[in-house]
Amino acid sequence: MPTIELLPEKEFRSHAPGYWKDQLVPETDWNSAKWQLKNRITTLSQLEEHLVLADEERAGVLLSGNKLAMAITPHYFNLIDPLDPDCPIRRQVIPRIEETLDDPGEMADPCGEDSHMPVPGLVHRYPDRVLFLVTDRCAAYCRYCTRSRVVSGVGEQTLHLEHEAAFRYLEKHTEIRDVLLSGGDPLLLSDGKLEGILSRLRSIKHIEFLRIGSRIPIFLPQRITPELCGMLKKYHPLFLSIHANHPRELTTEVRTALERLADHGIPLGNQSVLLRNVNDDPAIMKSLVHKLLMCRVRPYYLYQCDLIKGSSHLRASVAKGIEIIESLRGHTTGYAVPQFVIDAPGGGGKVPLNPDYMLMKDEQRVLIRNYEGKVFEYPEASSPAQLKVGQA
Ligand code: SF4
Repeated sequence: MPTIELLPEKEFRSHAPGYWKDQLVPETDWNSAKWQLKNRITTLSQLEEHLVLADEERAGVLLSGNKLAMAITPHYFNLIDPLDPDCPIRRQVIPRIEETLDDPGEMADPCGEDSHMPVPGLVHRYPDRVLFLVTDRCAAYCRYCTRSRVVSGVGEQTLHLEHEAAFRYLEKHTEIRDVLLSGGDPLLLSDGKLEGILSRLRSIKHIEFLRIGSRIPIFLPQRITPELCGMLKKYHPLFLSIHANHPRELTTEVRTALERLADHGIPLGNQSVLLRNVNDDPAIMKSLVHKLLMCRVRPYYLYQCDLIKGSSHLRASVAKGIEIIESLRGHTTGYAVPQFVIDAPGGGGKVPLNPDYMLMKDEQRVLIRNYEGKVFEYPEASSPAQLKVGQA
């Protein structure tokens, strides 16, 4: 197994105020979530003030208003390397004309969520847990978003944002013990609105466990205020899954935000999406997972990119995902190794994928190999009938 060189991106850096350096943004503005949201890049002319675009990008931006809007926070935009046309940050948020290509097998709703919605906005696929879509807006929009059909307000469908029917369904269904808030990005809601949802969920006795999926700590770390964390802390047990794809996204500001969440007792996991020319490289992934642990975030899932319409230019191969897991398992801390999964197309749920460590299995033994390729035999457990009294 080749040893992996760590990238310089293993260092934590602040990239602010980068592109805005000439405009001298006061620190109080830069550190304000409100200012960041108000100054998002949403138009072609704003983008071209700062970056030279390729023809494919310019055409993509012009068409994005009909599919998934473009929005990029100044914080995240500052991570783009203007001299690198293939910058991994740029590829995640700047639309390209390839988004209009039709690839066989791609779908508007690749995880089959709409067909598992007993009431609008609530996906009930697994027996004891639900996905609750509480908003259709995000701080910035990922070009491979699995919910682009409803997110950003310009897609094919509209998300139902009246939650009463969902609460009533949850109250009735006593088998539901786990609710995952997602969207859109729940942390984009005001503290008051989010607290209204969390307190209503906590009033339902059979709901034990709350989770929030959010990319806000990466796109808009300024939103992770002491007030927000203090409010979230009231609703434990509450876990948060963040979404970081590249080590450059873990800046000093992001680390501070994540530490603040962790200091309020919120267990943190990360869900990455495997993306071509973004993170489909063992060295980049190794740097990412190490930096996540430094931020007290456990790498949780590495997703094979869903078959969302217009994402073929961003999808890496399944074989690449397996190669990445193989390059991590045994070569670094076990906590740093995420589970590689495919969300089965059409709504089959997450299916874990692993390198083949079990070479053979019969009733007597299993043959296994370790991370170095060394082969071992492990005898199968005897059944109670095979064991004789007094047998050692
Ligand atoms: S933050 Fe999440 S919901 Fe929002 S665009 Fe990105 S992947 Fe989609």
